[in-house]
Amino acid sequence: MNTSARLILRCLPRSIIDKACKLHSSASLASGQHLPINFLTEDEQMMKETVAKLAKDEVLPLVRKMEQEHKVDKDLLRKLFENGLMGLEVPTEYDGTGCNFFTTILAVEELSKVDASIGALVDIHNTLVNSLIKKVANEEQKKKYLPKLANEYAGSFCLTEPGSGSDAFSLKTVAKKDGSDYIINGAKMWISNSDIAGVFLVFANADTSQGYRGITTFFVDRDMPGVSVAKPEDKLGIRASGTCMVHFENVRVPETNILGEFGKGYKYAAGFLNEGRVGIGAQMIGIAQGALDATIPYTLERKQFGKQIFEFQSMQHQIAQVVTEVECARLLVYNAARLVDAKQDVMKEAAMAKWYASECAQRATSKCIDFMGGVGFTTDYPHEKFYRDSKIGTIYEGTSNMQLSTIAKAIKKQYS
Ligand SMILES: Cc1cc2nc3c(=O)[nH]c(=O)nc-3n(C[C@H](O)[C@H](O)[C@H](O)COP(=O)(O)OP(=O)(O)OC[C@H]3O[C@@H](n4cnc5c(N)ncnc54)[C@H](O)[C@@H]3O)c2cc1C
Repeated sequence: MNTSARLILRCLPRSIIDKACKLHSSASLASGQHLPINFLTEDEQMMKETVAKLAKDEVLPLVRKMEQEHKVDKDLLRKLFENGLMGLEVPTEYDGTGCNFFTTILAVEELSKVDASIGALVDIHNTLVNSLIKKVANEEQKKKYLPKLANEYAGSFCLTEPGSGSDAFSLKTVAKKDGSDYIINGAKMWISNSDIAGVFLVFANADTSQGYRGITTFFVDRDMPGVSVAKPEDKLGIRASGTCMVHFENVRVPETNILGEFGKGYKYAAGFLNEGRVGIGAQMIGIAQGALDATIPYTLERKQFGKQIFEFQSMQHQIAQVVTEVECARLLVYNAARLVDAKQDVMKEAAMAKWYASECAQRATSKCIDFMGGVGFTTDYPHEKFYRDSKIGTIYEGTSNMQLSTIAKAIKKQYS
């Protein structure tokens, strides 16, 4: 990406926020109406196009290589940093891009249209790690970590363990007080970006007598003695996204490495996973749209029985249904993202967006393979990868069952 494009990415966001806020509030005040959820300001549209161009020029040529090597290309990673994509919501005073959450969502969607592994990297790094630090860390911690996370290394969110997945707060990693330090012991599983992370946000129980209210979040630097990262898991999809087990064996951290308040880790995990889920929703609509964009032109070209396969009514109806479902998913995701920027509680909306978008991406990518016929089943085309990549959406950051339980809880509260 050239310097001016980079500047666009680095400098536009503040105007996006201001302009979007002004547009939305003035429209509301003037007419009592709101702008459509998927209305993009000129600046948001430009941001979307800039990331789409980067995805096409820089990510696309490397997709298969990265998938085979199970890792993100080093030069590409550098470009993601250089172009401000690893510090999207990091304020400019910490050398970040200074975007709002909605813009981050647009970036994740555009990247995932080309490679959902890069979508996962940018999404988790921004919506879980950077976001938690930005909103909860003290000034000294922000100064220490945010510039590095925006420009130098990735970060990982370490909650899940071999024995605690959906039941996350039953985690067994402990942090024992020793003078003014804590000693962390435990193992975290399925940790995204841990192959390239420079810092881990570790959820450990620092007072087991308090149950889940003892869970506290710690900054753990990769180079601290006792930290070890296993080799990446061999996965069905998002194969270039490094997912590893991370062990913490007698890792000594100073008390000043506590992120936010002691005993509030469970609250941070629950709260920030809400935002994270909107990001997964964006990854899923990106995958679904990427599959559609690679399919519909083919149906307009491919002929059987002497006509384009798109002309068969049964094909048209199925394509229309998939496109409509993807648009529904997009509206749920964009709505939840706009609500995050408006500082509203999004527990229900994030669960709805993630559940619907991930189930929809599975259906859409499967249907796209059907529409392609035999070629869709080969690695010569991207469809089989879109299909495999879509599968993770119903699992990480809370399975589909857990999202439905969250939605049901909100429904019960509303009607009780
Ligand atoms: C590629 C990948 C990347 C990941 N990245 C991260 C990361 O960066 N950081 C991190 O902390 N974690 C990460 N995870 C972990 C992920 O969040 C968990 O895998 C997920 O929460 C599910 O937990 P589990 O795998 O233990 O499944 P389980 O909790 O064992 O669930 C198995 C099945 O039981 C169902 N189930 C469980 N409890 C209930 C219930 N109460 N009601 C109904 N159904 C239930 C589930 O829906 C599921 O179908 C990642 C996982 C993967 C696969």
